[in-house]
Amino acid sequence: MLAEIKGLNEECGVFGVWGHPDSAQLTYYGLHSLQHRGQEGTGIVVSNGEKLRVVKGEGLVSEIFTANVMEELKGTSAVGHVRYATAGGGGYENVQPLLFHSQTGSLALAHNGNLVNANYLKHQLETQGSIFQTSSDTEVLAHLIRRSGFSQIKDQVKNALSMLKGAYAYLILTENELMVALDPHGLRPLSLACLGDAYVVASETCAFDVIGAEYIRDIRPGELLIINKDGITSEQFAFNSTKSICAMEYIYFSRPDSNIQGINVHTARKNMGKRLAVEAPIEADVVTGVPDSSISAAIGYAEATGIPYEMGLIKNKYVGRTFIQPTQSLREQGVKMKLSAVRGVVEGKRVVMVDDSIVRGTTSRRIVRLLKEAGATEVHVVISSPPIKNPCFYGIDTSSKEELIASDKSVEEIRQLIGADSLTFLSAEGMVGAIVKTEGTNGFCLGCFTGNYPTEIYPDTLQYYYQK
Ligand code: SF4
Repeated sequence: MLAEIKGLNEECGVFGVWGHPDSAQLTYYGLHSLQHRGQEGTGIVVSNGEKLRVVKGEGLVSEIFTANVMEELKGTSAVGHVRYATAGGGGYENVQPLLFHSQTGSLALAHNGNLVNANYLKHQLETQGSIFQTSSDTEVLAHLIRRSGFSQIKDQVKNALSMLKGAYAYLILTENELMVALDPHGLRPLSLACLGDAYVVASETCAFDVIGAEYIRDIRPGELLIINKDGITSEQFAFNSTKSICAMEYIYFSRPDSNIQGINVHTARKNMGKRLAVEAPIEADVVTGVPDSSISAAIGYAEATGIPYEMGLIKNKYVGRTFIQPTQSLREQGVKMKLSAVRGVVEGKRVVMVDDSIVRGTTSRRIVRLLKEAGATEVHVVISSPPIKNPCFYGIDTSSKEELIASDKSVEEIRQLIGADSLTFLSAEGMVGAIVKTEGTNGFCLGCFTGNYPTEIYPDTLQYYYQK
Protein backbone atom coordinates (compact mmCIF):
# COMPACT_ATOMS: atom_id res chain seq x y z
CA MET A 1 0.00 0.00 0.00
CA LEU A 2 1.08 3.55 -0.49
CA ALA A 3 2.13 5.03 2.80
CA GLU A 4 1.58 8.62 1.96
CA ILE A 5 -2.06 8.15 0.95
CA LYS A 6 -2.87 5.50 3.47
CA GLY A 7 -1.93 7.35 6.63
CA LEU A 8 0.46 4.72 7.91
CA ASN A 9 4.02 5.88 8.06
CA GLU A 10 7.30 4.66 9.40
CA GLU A 11 9.23 7.41 11.05
CA CYS A 12 12.85 6.66 10.43
CA GLY A 13 15.73 4.57 9.23
CA VAL A 14 19.30 4.62 10.52
CA PHE A 15 22.60 3.56 9.00
CA GLY A 16 26.14 3.68 10.38
CA VAL A 17 29.67 2.73 9.31
CA TRP A 18 32.81 2.31 11.38
CA GLY A 19 36.33 1.98 9.98
CA HIS A 20 36.01 2.59 6.24
CA PRO A 21 37.61 5.41 4.20
CA ASP A 22 34.40 5.82 2.18
CA SER A 23 32.11 5.88 5.19
CA ALA A 24 30.00 8.81 3.94
CA GLN A 25 29.51 7.31 0.47
CA LEU A 26 28.54 3.96 1.97
CA THR A 27 26.09 5.77 4.24
CA TYR A 28 24.63 7.54 1.22
CA TYR A 29 23.94 4.20 -0.48
CA GLY A 30 22.62 2.70 2.75
CA LEU A 31 20.24 5.60 3.32
CA HIS A 32 19.10 5.41 -0.26
CA SER A 33 17.97 1.83 0.26
CA LEU A 34 16.21 2.87 3.51
CA GLN A 35 14.40 5.75 1.83
CA HIS A 36 11.03 3.98 2.16
CA ARG A 37 11.33 4.49 5.95
CA GLY A 38 11.24 8.27 5.67
CA GLN A 39 11.24 10.78 2.84
CA GLU A 40 10.98 14.13 4.56
CA GLY A 41 14.48 14.72 5.83
CA THR A 42 17.89 13.11 5.84
CA GLY A 43 21.36 13.69 7.20
CA ILE A 44 24.85 12.27 7.52
CA VAL A 45 27.42 13.00 10.21
CA VAL A 46 30.96 11.92 9.42
CA SER A 47 33.98 11.68 11.71
CA ASN A 48 37.60 11.94 10.62
CA GLY A 49 38.78 10.94 14.09
CA GLU A 50 39.12 14.53 15.23
CA LYS A 51 35.98 16.35 14.23
CA LEU A 52 32.37 15.56 13.40
CA ARG A 53 30.85 17.19 10.36
CA VAL A 54 27.14 17.20 9.50
CA VAL A 55 25.16 17.70 6.32
CA LYS A 56 21.40 17.43 6.51
CA GLY A 57 18.26 18.84 4.98
CA GLU A 58 14.61 18.39 4.21
CA GLY A 59 14.17 16.18 1.18
CA LEU A 60 15.19 12.87 -0.32
CA VAL A 61 18.66 11.38 0.01
CA SER A 62 19.40 12.05 -3.67
CA GLU A 63 18.25 15.67 -3.31
CA ILE A 64 20.29 16.53 -0.23
CA PHE A 65 23.51 14.68 -1.00
CA THR A 66 24.65 16.00 -4.34
CA ALA A 67 28.06 15.09 -5.74
CA ASN A 68 29.52 18.36 -4.44
CA VAL A 69 28.19 17.77 -0.95
CA MET A 70 29.53 14.23 -0.88
CA GLU A 71 32.98 15.52 -1.85
CA GLU A 72 33.10 17.40 1.45
CA LEU A 73 32.11 14.49 3.65
CA LYS A 74 35.42 12.79 4.39
CA GLY A 75 36.02 10.46 7.29
CA THR A 76 36.26 6.85 8.37
CA SER A 77 33.04 6.62 10.36
CA ALA A 78 29.58 7.97 9.75
CA VAL A 79 25.97 7.80 10.86
CA GLY A 80 22.98 8.66 8.72
CA HIS A 81 19.26 9.00 9.07
CA VAL A 82 16.11 9.22 6.97
CA ARG A 83 13.09 10.78 8.63
CA TYR A 84 9.36 10.90 8.30
CA ALA A 85 8.17 13.81 10.41
CA THR A 86 5.42 13.10 12.92
CA ALA A 87 6.30 13.03 16.62
CA GLY A 88 8.03 16.29 17.35
CA GLY A 89 6.94 17.69 13.99
CA GLY A 90 8.89 18.53 10.88
CA GLY A 91 11.35 21.33 10.21
CA TYR A 92 15.07 21.44 9.57
CA GLU A 93 15.96 21.48 13.26
CA ASN A 94 14.38 18.06 13.74
CA VAL A 95 16.22 16.44 10.82
CA GLN A 96 18.74 13.93 12.14
CA PRO A 97 21.44 13.05 13.00
CA LEU A 98 21.45 15.67 15.74
CA LEU A 99 24.93 16.98 16.49
CA PHE A 100 25.97 18.29 19.91
CA HIS A 101 29.22 19.87 21.03
CA SER A 102 30.60 20.12 24.55
CA GLN A 103 33.96 20.64 26.21
CA THR A 104 34.50 16.89 26.38
CA GLY A 105 33.82 16.34 22.68
CA SER A 106 31.06 16.04 20.12
CA LEU A 107 28.21 13.60 19.82
CA ALA A 108 25.89 12.75 16.94
CA LEU A 109 22.59 10.94 17.47
CA ALA A 110 20.44 9.08 14.98
CA HIS A 111 17.25 7.53 16.32
CA ASN A 112 14.61 5.22 14.91
CA GLY A 113 11.55 4.83 17.13
CA ASN A 114 9.68 6.89 19.62
CA LEU A 115 10.10 7.38 23.36
CA VAL A 116 6.95 7.18 25.46
CA ASN A 117 8.40 9.11 28.40
CA ALA A 118 10.08 11.88 26.39
CA ASN A 119 7.78 14.63 27.66
CA TYR A 120 8.20 13.50 31.24
CA LEU A 121 12.00 13.48 30.89
CA LYS A 122 12.02 16.80 29.03
CA HIS A 123 10.02 18.41 31.79
CA GLN A 124 12.44 17.10 34.39
CA LEU A 125 15.47 18.21 32.38
CA GLU A 126 14.04 21.67 31.76
CA THR A 127 13.40 22.21 35.45
CA GLN A 128 17.09 21.36 35.94
CA GLY A 129 18.15 23.98 33.39
CA SER A 130 18.26 22.16 30.05
CA ILE A 131 17.22 24.08 26.95
CA PHE A 132 16.13 22.05 23.94
CA GLN A 133 17.01 23.03 20.37
CA THR A 134 14.44 20.71 18.76
CA SER A 135 10.99 19.34 19.45
CA SER A 136 12.26 15.83 18.70
CA ASP A 137 12.31 13.25 21.51
CA THR A 138 15.78 12.20 20.36
CA GLU A 139 17.46 15.19 21.95
CA VAL A 140 16.50 13.94 25.40
CA LEU A 141 19.19 11.25 25.18
CA ALA A 142 21.95 13.80 24.52
CA HIS A 143 21.00 15.74 27.65
CA LEU A 144 20.82 12.61 29.76
CA ILE A 145 24.23 11.49 28.52
CA ARG A 146 25.90 14.82 29.27
CA ARG A 147 24.20 15.18 32.65
CA SER A 148 25.26 11.73 33.80
CA GLY A 149 27.86 11.85 36.55
CA PHE A 150 29.98 9.07 35.04
CA SER A 151 33.38 9.82 33.57
CA GLN A 152 33.41 7.22 30.77
CA ILE A 153 31.17 7.81 27.75
CA LYS A 154 30.13 4.14 27.79
CA ASP A 155 28.81 4.47 31.36
CA GLN A 156 27.18 7.81 30.57
CA VAL A 157 25.32 6.23 27.66
CA LYS A 158 24.28 3.14 29.62
CA ASN A 159 23.00 5.28 32.45
CA ALA A 160 21.07 7.53 30.06
CA LEU A 161 19.55 4.61 28.16
CA SER A 162 18.29 3.07 31.38
CA MET A 163 16.01 6.11 31.84
CA LEU A 164 14.33 5.83 28.46
CA LYS A 165 11.03 4.05 27.82
CA GLY A 166 9.64 3.19 24.44
CA ALA A 167 11.13 2.22 21.11
CA TYR A 168 14.63 3.18 20.14
CA ALA A 169 17.31 2.03 17.82
CA TYR A 170 20.09 4.56 18.45
CA LEU A 171 23.33 5.20 16.64
CA ILE A 172 25.68 7.43 18.64
CA LEU A 173 28.84 8.70 16.98
CA THR A 174 31.68 10.47 18.75
CA GLU A 175 35.04 11.45 17.27
CA ASN A 176 36.40 7.98 17.96
CA GLU A 177 33.54 5.61 18.76
CA LEU A 178 30.32 4.32 17.27
CA MET A 179 27.75 3.11 19.78
CA VAL A 180 24.66 1.18 18.85
CA ALA A 181 21.75 0.63 21.23
CA LEU A 182 18.41 -1.14 20.96
CA ASP A 183 15.55 -0.74 23.45
CA PRO A 184 14.84 -3.56 25.95
CA HIS A 185 11.93 -4.83 23.84
CA GLY A 186 13.73 -4.68 20.51
CA LEU A 187 10.71 -2.93 19.01
CA ARG A 188 12.52 -1.68 15.91
CA PRO A 189 14.79 -3.79 13.70
CA LEU A 190 18.54 -3.15 13.79
CA SER A 191 21.26 -5.34 12.32
CA LEU A 192 25.05 -5.56 12.22
CA ALA A 193 27.23 -6.44 9.23
CA CYS A 194 30.87 -6.24 8.18
CA LEU A 195 32.53 -4.94 5.05
CA GLY A 196 36.12 -6.16 5.13
CA ASP A 197 37.44 -4.81 8.43
CA ALA A 198 34.69 -2.20 8.69
CA TYR A 199 31.44 -2.57 10.64
CA VAL A 200 28.08 -1.50 9.33
CA VAL A 201 24.77 -1.09 11.18
CA ALA A 202 21.37 -0.56 9.58
CA SER A 203 17.65 -0.55 10.27
CA GLU A 204 17.20 -3.12 7.54
CA THR A 205 19.43 -5.70 5.93
CA CYS A 206 18.54 -4.49 2.41
CA ALA A 207 20.98 -1.65 3.13
CA PHE A 208 23.80 -4.19 3.54
CA ASP A 209 23.12 -5.82 0.21
CA VAL A 210 23.47 -2.56 -1.71
CA ILE A 211 27.03 -2.01 -0.43
CA GLY A 212 28.06 -5.67 -0.40
CA ALA A 213 28.31 -5.92 3.40
CA GLU A 214 28.02 -9.30 5.06
CA TYR A 215 25.27 -9.71 7.65
CA ILE A 216 26.56 -10.77 11.08
CA ARG A 217 23.53 -10.69 13.37
CA ASP A 218 20.64 -8.61 14.71
CA ILE A 219 21.22 -6.32 17.69
CA ARG A 220 19.68 -7.85 20.83
CA PRO A 221 17.03 -6.11 22.93
CA GLY A 222 18.74 -4.08 25.67
CA GLU A 223 22.16 -4.38 24.02
CA LEU A 224 24.78 -1.66 23.67
CA LEU A 225 27.48 -2.27 21.06
CA ILE A 226 30.62 -0.19 21.23
CA ILE A 227 32.81 -0.07 18.14
CA ASN A 228 36.19 1.66 18.24
CA LYS A 229 39.84 1.12 17.26
CA ASP A 230 40.05 -1.82 19.65
CA GLY A 231 37.23 -3.68 17.91
CA ILE A 232 33.69 -4.36 18.95
CA THR A 233 32.31 -5.06 22.43
CA SER A 234 28.79 -5.87 23.54
CA GLU A 235 27.12 -5.08 26.85
CA GLN A 236 23.59 -5.40 28.15
CA PHE A 237 22.28 -2.17 29.59
CA ALA A 238 18.89 -3.74 30.36
CA PHE A 239 18.57 -7.19 31.84
CA ASN A 240 14.79 -7.54 31.97
CA SER A 241 14.60 -7.38 28.19
CA THR A 242 11.85 -9.27 26.40
CA LYS A 243 11.66 -9.23 22.66
CA SER A 244 8.57 -7.55 21.18
CA ILE A 245 9.45 -6.68 17.61
CA CYS A 246 6.91 -4.54 15.78
CA ALA A 247 4.72 -6.88 13.70
CA MET A 248 4.10 -4.02 11.25
CA GLU A 249 7.71 -4.25 10.13
CA TYR A 250 6.88 -7.65 8.61
CA ILE A 251 3.38 -6.72 7.44
CA TYR A 252 4.09 -3.44 5.78
CA PHE A 253 7.13 -1.29 6.54
CA SER A 254 10.27 -3.21 5.78
CA ARG A 255 11.39 -3.91 2.27
CA PRO A 256 10.59 -7.43 1.00
CA ASP A 257 14.28 -8.10 0.41
CA SER A 258 15.15 -7.40 4.06
CA ASN A 259 15.49 -10.11 6.68
CA ILE A 260 14.40 -9.37 10.24
CA GLN A 261 15.68 -11.82 12.83
CA GLY A 262 16.65 -14.16 10.04
CA ILE A 263 13.17 -14.16 8.49
CA ASN A 264 12.79 -12.79 4.98
CA VAL A 265 10.04 -10.16 4.82
CA HIS A 266 8.70 -11.29 1.43
CA THR A 267 8.48 -14.89 2.67
CA ALA A 268 6.68 -13.79 5.85
CA ARG A 269 4.16 -11.81 3.79
CA LYS A 270 3.67 -14.68 1.37
CA ASN A 271 2.97 -16.98 4.31
CA MET A 272 0.43 -14.45 5.62
CA GLY A 273 -1.32 -14.73 2.25
CA LYS A 274 -1.30 -18.52 2.55
CA ARG A 275 -2.80 -18.31 6.05
CA LEU A 276 -5.46 -15.96 4.73
CA ALA A 277 -6.38 -18.58 2.15
CA VAL A 278 -7.08 -20.97 5.03
CA GLU A 279 -8.92 -18.41 7.15
CA ALA A 280 -10.77 -16.77 4.23
CA PRO A 281 -11.36 -19.18 1.33
CA ILE A 282 -13.25 -17.33 -1.41
CA GLU A 283 -14.58 -18.41 -4.79
CA ALA A 284 -13.11 -15.98 -7.28
CA ASP A 285 -11.51 -15.68 -10.73
CA VAL A 286 -8.40 -13.59 -10.01
CA VAL A 287 -6.27 -12.50 -7.05
CA THR A 288 -4.60 -9.11 -7.10
CA GLY A 289 -2.42 -7.32 -4.57
CA VAL A 290 -2.36 -3.61 -3.81
CA PRO A 291 1.13 -2.50 -4.86
CA ASP A 292 3.76 -2.65 -3.54
CA SER A 293 3.65 -4.07 -0.03
CA SER A 294 0.66 -6.42 -0.55
CA ILE A 295 1.94 -8.22 -3.62
CA SER A 296 3.83 -10.87 -1.64
CA ALA A 297 0.71 -11.75 0.39
CA ALA A 298 -1.39 -11.82 -2.79
CA ILE A 299 1.05 -14.26 -4.39
CA GLY A 300 0.79 -16.47 -1.28
CA TYR A 301 -3.01 -16.33 -1.34
CA ALA A 302 -3.08 -17.22 -5.05
CA GLU A 303 -0.60 -20.05 -4.60
CA ALA A 304 -2.58 -21.58 -1.74
CA THR A 305 -6.00 -21.28 -3.39
CA GLY A 306 -5.03 -22.05 -6.98
CA ILE A 307 -6.77 -18.84 -8.15
CA PRO A 308 -4.50 -17.12 -10.66
CA TYR A 309 -2.54 -14.06 -9.50
CA GLU A 310 -2.97 -11.14 -11.88
CA MET A 311 -1.75 -7.58 -11.93
CA GLY A 312 -5.15 -6.00 -11.46
CA LEU A 313 -3.78 -2.77 -10.01
CA ILE A 314 -0.90 -0.69 -11.33
CA LYS A 315 1.03 1.90 -9.39
CA ASN A 316 2.11 5.09 -11.09
CA LYS A 317 5.76 5.20 -10.06
CA TYR A 318 6.30 8.74 -11.28
CA VAL A 319 4.07 10.59 -8.87
CA GLY A 320 6.49 12.61 -6.79
CA ARG A 321 6.39 13.72 -3.20
CA THR A 322 4.69 16.94 -4.22
CA PHE A 323 1.49 14.95 -4.32
CA ILE A 324 1.72 13.89 -0.70
CA GLN A 325 -1.15 15.82 0.76
CA PRO A 326 -2.31 15.65 4.34
CA THR A 327 -5.97 16.54 3.98
CA GLN A 328 -8.63 13.90 3.59
CA SER A 329 -10.00 15.24 0.29
CA LEU A 330 -6.57 15.41 -1.31
CA ARG A 331 -5.70 11.98 0.03
CA GLU A 332 -8.66 10.62 -1.92
CA GLN A 333 -7.44 12.37 -5.04
CA GLY A 334 -4.00 10.92 -4.36
CA VAL A 335 -5.31 7.38 -4.68
CA LYS A 336 -6.54 8.07 -8.22
CA MET A 337 -3.21 9.55 -9.23
CA LYS A 338 -1.19 6.73 -7.79
CA LEU A 339 -3.20 3.63 -8.65
CA SER A 340 -5.04 2.38 -11.70
CA ALA A 341 -7.14 -0.74 -12.15
CA VAL A 342 -6.30 -2.87 -15.19
CA ARG A 343 -9.60 -3.26 -17.02
CA GLY A 344 -8.33 -6.09 -19.21
CA VAL A 345 -7.59 -8.13 -16.07
CA VAL A 346 -10.59 -7.43 -13.85
CA GLU A 347 -13.49 -6.79 -16.24
CA GLY A 348 -16.23 -9.38 -15.75
CA LYS A 349 -14.18 -11.08 -13.00
CA ARG A 350 -14.72 -11.88 -9.33
CA VAL A 351 -11.62 -10.30 -7.77
CA VAL A 352 -9.87 -11.05 -4.49
CA MET A 353 -8.05 -7.85 -3.54
CA VAL A 354 -5.28 -8.50 -1.00
CA ASP A 355 -4.09 -5.57 1.09
CA ASP A 356 -1.79 -5.45 4.10
CA SER A 357 -3.92 -3.28 6.40
CA ILE A 358 -6.78 -0.84 6.67
CA VAL A 359 -6.12 2.42 8.51
CA ARG A 360 -8.82 5.01 7.82
CA GLY A 361 -10.64 2.97 5.19
CA THR A 362 -10.61 5.81 2.68
CA THR A 363 -8.00 4.20 0.47
CA SER A 364 -9.66 0.78 0.55
CA ARG A 365 -12.97 2.34 -0.48
CA ARG A 366 -11.31 4.12 -3.39
CA ILE A 367 -9.53 0.99 -4.59
CA VAL A 368 -12.68 -1.14 -4.40
CA ARG A 369 -14.42 1.55 -6.44
CA LEU A 370 -11.55 1.63 -8.97
CA LEU A 371 -11.85 -2.12 -9.47
CA LYS A 372 -15.63 -2.00 -9.84
CA GLU A 373 -15.46 0.93 -12.25
CA ALA A 374 -13.04 -1.17 -14.30
CA GLY A 375 -15.67 -3.91 -14.55
CA ALA A 376 -15.00 -6.27 -11.63
CA THR A 377 -18.27 -8.07 -10.83
CA GLU A 378 -17.30 -8.77 -7.21
CA VAL A 379 -14.46 -7.40 -5.04
CA HIS A 380 -13.54 -9.46 -1.99
CA VAL A 381 -11.07 -7.67 0.27
CA VAL A 382 -8.72 -9.79 2.35
CA ILE A 383 -6.31 -8.10 4.74
CA SER A 384 -3.06 -9.77 5.79
CA SER A 385 -3.21 -8.34 9.34
CA PRO A 386 -5.84 -7.93 12.07
CA PRO A 387 -7.91 -4.71 12.32
CA ILE A 388 -5.88 -1.70 13.57
CA LYS A 389 -7.92 -0.52 16.53
CA ASN A 390 -5.35 1.48 18.51
CA PRO A 391 -2.63 4.05 17.88
CA CYS A 392 1.07 3.20 17.92
CA PHE A 393 3.25 4.96 20.50
CA TYR A 394 6.52 3.57 19.19
CA GLY A 395 7.31 5.50 16.05
CA ILE A 396 4.68 4.44 13.54
CA ASP A 397 2.23 7.10 12.54
CA THR A 398 -1.04 5.13 12.54
CA SER A 399 -3.32 8.19 12.89
CA SER A 400 -5.32 9.03 16.00
CA LYS A 401 -7.72 6.49 17.47
CA GLU A 402 -10.72 8.43 16.14
CA GLU A 403 -9.38 8.21 12.59
CA LEU A 404 -8.81 4.46 12.72
CA ILE A 405 -11.83 2.93 11.06
CA ALA A 406 -11.60 -0.30 13.08
CA SER A 407 -11.43 1.49 16.43
CA ASP A 408 -15.21 1.61 16.75
CA LYS A 409 -16.58 -0.32 13.80
CA SER A 410 -17.24 -4.01 13.25
CA VAL A 411 -15.83 -5.88 10.26
CA GLU A 412 -19.31 -5.86 8.69
CA GLU A 413 -19.61 -2.10 9.18
CA ILE A 414 -16.20 -1.58 7.58
CA ARG A 415 -17.17 -3.85 4.68
CA GLN A 416 -20.21 -1.73 4.01
CA LEU A 417 -18.23 1.50 4.23
CA ILE A 418 -15.57 0.37 1.76
CA GLY A 419 -18.15 -1.16 -0.58
CA ALA A 420 -16.60 -4.64 -0.73
CA ASP A 421 -18.56 -7.85 -1.35
CA SER A 422 -16.75 -9.46 1.55
CA LEU A 423 -14.03 -8.44 3.98
CA THR A 424 -11.74 -10.65 6.02
CA PHE A 425 -8.84 -9.79 8.31
CA LEU A 426 -6.10 -12.26 9.21
CA SER A 427 -6.15 -13.32 12.87
CA ALA A 428 -3.30 -12.21 15.15
CA GLU A 429 -2.32 -15.86 15.76
CA GLY A 430 -2.45 -16.58 12.04
CA MET A 431 -0.30 -13.58 11.29
CA VAL A 432 2.39 -14.37 13.84
CA GLY A 433 2.26 -18.06 12.90
CA ALA A 434 2.88 -17.05 9.29
CA ILE A 435 5.99 -15.14 10.34
CA VAL A 436 7.61 -17.48 12.85
CA LYS A 437 5.77 -20.79 12.41
CA THR A 438 5.08 -21.13 16.12
CA GLU A 439 1.94 -21.09 18.23
CA GLY A 440 0.94 -17.99 20.19
CA THR A 441 1.98 -14.38 19.66
CA ASN A 442 5.05 -14.11 21.92
CA GLY A 443 7.99 -12.09 20.70
CA PHE A 444 5.91 -9.49 18.85
CA CYS A 445 4.41 -6.12 19.61
CA LEU A 446 0.77 -6.24 18.51
CA GLY A 447 -0.24 -3.09 20.38
CA CYS A 448 -2.12 -1.38 17.56
CA PHE A 449 -4.16 -4.55 16.99
CA THR A 450 -4.77 -5.73 20.54
CA GLY A 451 -4.25 -2.64 22.72
CA ASN A 452 -1.66 -4.56 24.76
CA TYR A 453 1.59 -2.62 24.60
CA PRO A 454 4.95 -3.96 25.74
CA THR A 455 5.78 -0.84 27.80
CA GLU A 456 3.81 1.38 30.10
CA ILE A 457 2.43 4.43 28.28
CA TYR A 458 2.79 7.77 30.04
CA PRO A 459 -0.41 9.82 30.43
CA ASP A 460 0.83 12.81 28.40
CA THR A 461 1.82 10.48 25.57
CA LEU A 462 -1.64 8.92 25.65
CA GLN A 463 -3.23 12.34 25.55
CA TYR A 464 -1.11 13.40 22.58
CA TYR A 465 -2.00 10.34 20.52
CA TYR A 466 -5.67 10.38 21.32
CA GLN A 467 -6.03 14.05 20.47
CA LYS A 468 -3.64 14.60 17.58
S1 SF4 B 1 1.82 -0.70 18.18
FE1 SF4 B 1 1.66 -1.63 16.12
S2 SF4 B 1 2.87 -0.32 14.75
FE2 SF4 B 1 3.42 0.21 16.87
S3 SF4 B 1 5.24 -1.01 17.35
FE3 SF4 B 1 3.46 -2.18 18.05
S4 SF4 B 1 2.90 -3.47 16.27
FE4 SF4 B 1 4.27 -1.88 15.53
